[in-house]
Amino acid sequence: MKIAVFSAQPYDKRFLEEANTRLFTNHNFELTYHVFPLAQETVALAQGSDAVCVFVNDYLDAPVLEALHKGGTRAVLLRCAGFNNVDLETADKLGFFVARVAAYSPEAVAEFTIALIQTLNRHTHRAYNRVRESNFSLDGLLGFTMHGKTVGIVGTGKIGLAVARILKGFGCRLLAYDLYKVPEFDALGKYVELEKLLEESDIVTLHCPLMDATRHIINKSTLDRMKPGAMLVNTSRGGLIDTDAVIAALKSRKLGALAIDVYENESALFYHDRSADIIDDDVFQRLMTFPNVLVSGHQGFFTIEALTQISEITLRNMECFVNGTECSNRLHRKDGT
Ligand code: NAD
Repeated sequence: MKIAVFSAQPYDKRFLEEANTRLFTNHNFELTYHVFPLAQETVALAQGSDAVCVFVNDYLDAPVLEALHKGGTRAVLLRCAGFNNVDLETADKLGFFVARVAAYSPEAVAEFTIALIQTLNRHTHRAYNRVRESNFSLDGLLGFTMHGKTVGIVGTGKIGLAVARILKGFGCRLLAYDLYKVPEFDALGKYVELEKLLEESDIVTLHCPLMDATRHIINKSTLDRMKPGAMLVNTSRGGLIDTDAVIAALKSRKLGALAIDVYENESALFYHDRSADIIDDDVFQRLMTFPNVLVSGHQGFFTIEALTQISEITLRNMECFVNGTECSNRLHRKDGT
């Protein structure tokens, strides 16, 4: 069975090959790796592949899915949890098997979220550079104690809950907003309406998926509701935040700090070395000018444990497709927006 892997980085190849050799030798999965993303311009490379294996910035809209179908591809293996980049309605119509990696080390993303919060709060990124230049002054590095602070968690799924468990250990007061409440959170904090969460939280952290209902859930009006000087954190999907509105809130000093691992238009930037390029995205470049903004390039998932699980589950999903067996990671039209 042939699998065309798109947006493949060296680490994708390493972990997929390791999983294939360790667990799936009897299946003869033959993986071909393409560095570039799957798009209309590159879809021809999937010709003759039984499956494509894609990541967060590969866009599988109707024309791409139709071209894949024409080329004989019947399965889409997402090596991520989010699936906002796949037109599930068209995929269903064409009879595609689409499966994601619903759960893999949620702690990987949760721990990274805490790393961003504490870096931004205690300025460790600036301290690192200062000390290397023998500048031991503390001015400008003042932070706040996490203990006793109120943190609002939007989305108490696997990652949101893992964040809540860690923050409970810090001694934070936890509020959460979710359409579907889970009893596990009751032992950690209190569910409230989104408005109350925004009004009372010193830190707001987003852990809901990107869908029509959540696109720009952080916008001018929700930013207005936030506590003055609060920190906003997004390690979920860039589209949850209206970046222009956030820039305005940073400029007016209403928003105290912003930490993001994801960005609305990240697909043109992230996962590649652009250090010698001129970046055309003025909105992104404006964000980079704020001293109270911390941006990382969608790396919350990037741990050895998570990559091992992602690779194994991706190939396990392929195994379900080949054997026609039940697959709990399979996505259908009803899962879409
Ligand atoms: P999950 O499905 O376990 O949890 C998502 C939660 O969001 C659920 O509890 C759901 O009820 C809730 N939700 C849905 N709609 C909502 C709404 N309108 N308002 C509030 N809550 C809502 O997902 P997860 O595994 O916790 O992952 C969360 C998100 O994290 C994913 O959708 C993905 O986009 C992102 N993610 C990012 C990285 C990274 O590397 N930065 C890695 C993995 C996942």
